[in-house]
Amino acid sequence: MWTKVSRIIRGARAGSPPHIRSGGRGERARKPKSERPHGPHVFEVRDRDGLARIGTIETRHGRVTTPALLPVVNPNRPIVSPADLAKRFHAEILITNAYILGKGPSRDRALREGVHALLGFPGAVMTDSGAFQSHVYGDVDVTNAEVIEFQKSIGTDLGTMLDVFSEPSHDRDRAFADIDETIHRAKEADSLRGDMALVGAVQGGLHPDLRERCAREVSSLGVSVCAIGGVVPLLESYRFRDLVGVIIASKKGLDPSKPVHLFGAGHPMVFPLAVLLGCDLFDSASYAKYARDGRMLFPEGTRRASELRETGCACPICTEHSIGDIAANETLLAEHNLHVCFAAVREVRRAIAQGDLWELVERRARAHPSLLGALRELRQHNAFLEESEPISRRGALYYVGPETAHRPILHRFRRRAIERYRPPPSKGLLVLPERGRPFSETFAPILSQVLPQANVHAVVKSLWGPVPIELDHVWPMSQSIVPERPDIESLEAAEVFFREWAAGAGFDFGVLWEGPSTLEDLQARAPGGRVPDWKALRVRATAEFQFGLGAADALLRGLISYVVSKNNGKVRNVLADGEHVLSLRAEDGLFTLKAAGARRLRAAFPSPRLRVIVEPDSVPFQRDGKNVFAGFVRDADPEIRPGDEVLVVSPEDDLCAVAQAAMNRREMRAFKRGVAARVREGVPPPASAPRR
Ligand SMILES: [Zn+2]
Repeated sequence: MWTKVSRIIRGARAGSPPHIRSGGRGERARKPKSERPHGPHVFEVRDRDGLARIGTIETRHGRVTTPALLPVVNPNRPIVSPADLAKRFHAEILITNAYILGKGPSRDRALREGVHALLGFPGAVMTDSGAFQSHVYGDVDVTNAEVIEFQKSIGTDLGTMLDVFSEPSHDRDRAFADIDETIHRAKEADSLRGDMALVGAVQGGLHPDLRERCAREVSSLGVSVCAIGGVVPLLESYRFRDLVGVIIASKKGLDPSKPVHLFGAGHPMVFPLAVLLGCDLFDSASYAKYARDGRMLFPEGTRRASELRETGCACPICTEHSIGDIAANETLLAEHNLHVCFAAVREVRRAIAQGDLWELVERRARAHPSLLGALRELRQHNAFLEESEPISRRGALYYVGPETAHRPILHRFRRRAIERYRPPPSKGLLVLPERGRPFSETFAPILSQVLPQANVHAVVKSLWGPVPIELDHVWPMSQSIVPERPDIESLEAAEVFFREWAAGAGFDFGVLWEGPSTLEDLQARAPGGRVPDWKALRVRATAEFQFGLGAADALLRGLISYVVSKNNGKVRNVLADGEHVLSLRAEDGLFTLKAAGARRLRAAFPSPRLRVIVEPDSVPFQRDGKNVFAGFVRDADPEIRPGDEVLVVSPEDDLCAVAQAAMNRREMRAFKRGVAARVREGVPPPASAPRR
């Protein structure tokens, strides 16, 4: 039994929805000065959700939308022709193997006509180098320099260096040697690449520090795409938990402005998880390999065609052919597999745009216990994942399983409840159970009965962590859909979350509400009563929660008044000494910052707190209300998250604008194009100062 307890949003709206886009046509900008070598600028992010992103890669053979699947084409034996891949499957890019091509019968033709003409493919072609063959055969008889030269000669769009395949079994010393040689070869490939866009590889086996170091060094070179290699043995043995460790360690070191390829990940089961962790490209040989073996791919696993009576699949192959015909035909099997893979990538893109990729990953994790193990592993990396997590999303947050409570957005809410929330003075704590939301409305009758008679404050012991009653409107606590009868694991976790918070909350005691008898207990322990000013409590608590401790004192200094929604009586605008400092957004319960509020925060917090510091030549544009481009960001507060309200300042710390961040600091510093922050309001220079 499921209860829909989402809050219905209507009435007042302030600011724009916290849905972030960056980049886009006509919004390009370059770093004013080049700080490090860089390959061709090929990648632009158009939409994002955490580390996941929808982007485009520009190639000499057209634009590729990411996340993208690159079907692997065996140049000597294509099971589905490259022309068909383009025409019937709308593939914008494929991958073939330069090593196999260079050793095979088509070598001379490839050199003469180019790889596109050879394959008959009009889109982008990426080539691999032979590192995987070295994993299979132990060695390859070609050098890094030869492979780079060959790829240039055949006109590949994205050419790959010959890295050293780090097996998961390699011990530290061996893996250290692997990445040493891989980094050395990446530098060599960079010096030889000419104008070919280069794919640099990240190795390091299962050693997180080596992965991170390799990622940092390789992505700082002139590579256009970074590829995480050495993961096929993990994928083949369903070691998805190890895969999570490898991807996250690599992402920590990688330049976030470069697209990430996950080498050898071709099963639709892993796409949602890998994209969630920031992978943009996949190559699939699986569609052909499984077809050869009589097996069909599905988003939730693999099945043997000869054992099926129905495929339950809506692809054109399954619609037009009987399962008997499909099972007997390798090409039909491969085509079904391709349709399923492309559909899985499209679904991931939809989820990113919708902001529900986490839910998709949680649901898909039920397909295999190893995937579920990987999902449970994610909570170990919350500190890193939270850095890219938006401050809110559209719509409700759904409970999918006991893992939901450990999502980065909820981890952040609990951290902030501990670090940024200071309850109003009161003797004890009334603990309310998880019920319908918004909690303040559900529990209004109890609060109006208890508070006049007992000196206590109220908190809801929700499934996802304690919610002080005056913060119940903050996303996602305001809009959550949870089961009416929670599972034991979730209840136990809620107990732990509550104790962690209550230990430092400063109350003498806490009593769980069990009915009217609880009132007598509260009266005995905390005689007296309170008549809280709910509007003031709510505004103060939200300001601290959003901007940090001390923000309420800065923003709410002086005589405070409110503009209240006529529809629902809720605060819309907050004025301090007649100045409009904040607007409360109905959709996520957080504030939109106004220029007057920004001035107060700037005076109260030292640089770089809450700030995006832009280059001097960008200042006039922000004063004029134009967006901040990543290429012009000098530095920023490391605590800024996508969707945060930020102060845009000059290097001298003059306030130029109020904006909504589209990136975190790491991204702002790495990206050379795209919007770093969307300006809400430009701030003119003080009348006395010269305009700059
Ligand atoms: Zn099908």
